[in-house]
Amino acid sequence: MSHRSTFDLSPPTPLQFDALAATLTPDERQVLLDHGTESPFCGVLLTEKRAGVYACRLCGLPLFLAGNKFDSRTGWPSFTTPFNEQHLSYVRDTSYGMVRTEIRCARCGSHQGHVFDDGPPPTHQRYCINSVSLQFVADTDPLPDKLGRGAPEGAVWQAPAA
Ligand SMILES: [Zn+2]
Repeated sequence: MSHRSTFDLSPPTPLQFDALAATLTPDERQVLLDHGTESPFCGVLLTEKRAGVYACRLCGLPLFLAGNKFDSRTGWPSFTTPFNEQHLSYVRDTSYGMVRTEIRCARCGSHQGHVFDDGPPPTHQRYCINSVSLQFVADTDPLPDKLGRGAPEGAVWQAPAA
């Protein structure tokens, strides 16, 4: 999706960032802030099949739609396309002797996972994301508004008419 985001993408203030980081569990902190990877097949969102939105665990920005989730059999939640291209940042990652593309939340910079080009059609992209990096929001529930930005945050997400 290349639609312009309707979300306020300005980064959290250092004070907001620290306050949100303080709410993370050690496992969440290790992935989101220290760029770790959770063990495969342990993530709580792996079998999540309800309709809804997957938001950044740290700042609450929607990053993926449930409708774009697929079973990649890798042990990590996987998506074919982001909620909005503007909500992710892409960073070249050469750790562990591999060249990969790291995915971060474009707003708060937290680590989410990696994207690979071996996904299913039509995008052939596989966004391989850590469960602990995400917060699932069922489509009947309001989106988080962790930074006090106001609508569309804090409201039930309604996709814009195509
Ligand atoms: Zn974020």
